[in-house]
Amino acid sequence: MSRPFDLAGTVALVTGGNGGIGLAIARALHAAGAAVMIAGRNDAKNAAALAAFADRAAAVIADVTDEAAVQGMIETTLTRFGRLDILVLNAGINIRKPAQEMSFEEWRAVLAADLDSAFLCARAAYPALKGSGRGRVIAIGSMLSLFGAAFAPAYGAAKGGIVQLAKSLAVAWAADGITANAILPGWIDTDLTRTARDQVPGLHEKVLARTPMGRWGLPEDLGGIAVFLASREAGFVTGAAIPVDGGYAAAI
Ligand code: NDP
Repeated sequence: MSRPFDLAGTVALVTGGNGGIGLAIARALHAAGAAVMIAGRNDAKNAAALAAFADRAAAVIADVTDEAAVQGMIETTLTRFGRLDILVLNAGINIRKPAQEMSFEEWRAVLAADLDSAFLCARAAYPALKGSGRGRVIAIGSMLSLFGAAFAPAYGAAKGGIVQLAKSLAVAWAADGITANAILPGWIDTDLTRTARDQVPGLHEKVLARTPMGRWGLPEDLGGIAVFLASREAGFVTGAAIPVDGGYAAAI
């Protein structure tokens, strides 16, 4: 009998898996038994991230805003590991500006990286996820899937869209045995939010004051929920958007 939440024999592809939240999720899935493919644009970051794994891991360079590159990323995963069961839609960027100061080009860059990419990856992965018989799509949303922020109109629009995309996939692909859910991280200490703290005065203190747990999250805080959603035990959980935020979304 297998252990609960055992992912042995499965293959996970984590976009943006070479750092921050993506790498922590890749490590958690790997520790639960999955083989992992990490995808990112930066070769040096990919290589450094791979060093975290002794076995059952590989990396692929892919810009997930590029349709052909996404197709290549899926094919590389299938060539390397023979199957794909778990797709983590994690790659993302932010450009912090109020709407009135944001160029159309900046808007489109954020939507492309944070939302178009999820559609492209999910669509390209569908045949393999269906073939798995127990496919999992895990999309990374945000507190800005729920709340507005003056400095993040494009990011908020994309992260709101991620939740609705996950729900649409959940409905469409349930008959194929595929679940699709979103994780909504609170404020997590990564490269992304280190820049945010530099750019948004008072953000660090505001997050501490607003978060009932009284701390910033760590990338590792997202590992458990990803393993759960990827597991057989979560086979009836689909279309959900689950905050992992130290209580941020529950507090007024
Ligand atoms: P990081 O900046 O540390 O990581 C972002 C990752 O996305 C990197 O691995 C980067 O790889 C990859 N990436 C970005 N654009 C592309 C692209 N076009 N193609 C391929 N890979 C790309 O940030 P986080 O770990 O904080 O963020 C991960 C996810 O979590 C994002 O979706 C973010 O929006 C979300 N999130 C983060 C929160 C936080 O507080 N940190 C809160 C809520 C959500 P490379 O460098 O190689 O391009």
